[in-house]
Amino acid sequence: MNPETTHPTQHEENAGPLSLRPAGSLLVVATPIGNLEDITLRALRALREADLIAAEDTRQTLRLLNHFGIKKPMVSCHDMNEHAKAGDLVRQMREGRQLVLVSDAGTPGISDPGEILIRESIAAGIPVTMAPGPAAAIMAVVLSGLPTGRFCFEGFLPSARKDRVHQLETLKMETRTLIFYESPHRLKAVLSDLLAVLGDRRCALARELTKMHEEILRDTLSNLVSVHEVREPRGEYVLVLAGAEADLLRDNAREEWLRMTLSEHVGLYLAEGSDRMEAMKKAAKDRGLSKRDVYAALQADAQEGKEG
Ligand code: SAM
Repeated sequence: MNPETTHPTQHEENAGPLSLRPAGSLLVVATPIGNLEDITLRALRALREADLIAAEDTRQTLRLLNHFGIKKPMVSCHDMNEHAKAGDLVRQMREGRQLVLVSDAGTPGISDPGEILIRESIAAGIPVTMAPGPAAAIMAVVLSGLPTGRFCFEGFLPSARKDRVHQLETLKMETRTLIFYESPHRLKAVLSDLLAVLGDRRCALARELTKMHEEILRDTLSNLVSVHEVREPRGEYVLVLAGAEADLLRDNAREEWLRMTLSEHVGLYLAEGSDRMEAMKKAAKDRGLSKRDVYAALQADAQEGKEG
């Protein structure tokens, strides 16, 4: 076979940057968030081929490596030392070492160390790529049943209540689906604060994703607060909350409309520039009525007005 006419197989094409990676690069590797079967083939290969693994907690990563029979030198790179370590790690990559960055679970840089090393590597002109994989936020929003088209990842809310409430205040009008990480011991307090500040919205509480006790409660915030009055939170949680447009703004507007008479409601759209048909159509849609019902009600009002 003429090698020039040989096309790469699908597999070879997909082998991508890993097989072609230049000497001295950073490879960010996502690891499972509970279920070890979620490790990807690329992640395993990256770990096997690394010269050095920068790990959030080397003991945690050692368990992962042992499980897959991999032996590699490791260096710790966590929230408290990432800044100090980044310079030396960049130097090692410049000397040609392949560095793999992992965190304890999931995707590095997502509520985990990684951001600083990645930024400094980019700034130093070191090639940076990734073996992507699990991230609890993505799994939770996908399974939430809430809109996934636009979402906003907020990570962990501040632990001090005053700061937390302040941060939630800034999210009141956020229309995108909101995603929060939370620890079990703060869950009850956070659910109550969310309800108090953002109002009663649809919420999905995802617990122990990919693990034996995986559970997703999809309910209103107020019901989830009640459930947790008698239930002790246990395990890891992601909270996914409907954005303001989806629930709050529409509910507020609905309350406003229901306080108006039908002709006031139609008048609102007339004042905004709609013609009469358009205004009736919009008011009918807001109130869940047919256009014919709106027309009939307005006729009856007008008749009453004339008679009265
Ligand atoms: N880097 C990770 C990722 O990609 O999702 C997140 C690490 S952060 C330190 C840990 C938080 O992520 C937990 O407190 C929890 O909110 C969320 N989390 C991680 N694994 C989870 C799981 N299996 N089920 C639910 N939440 C999880």
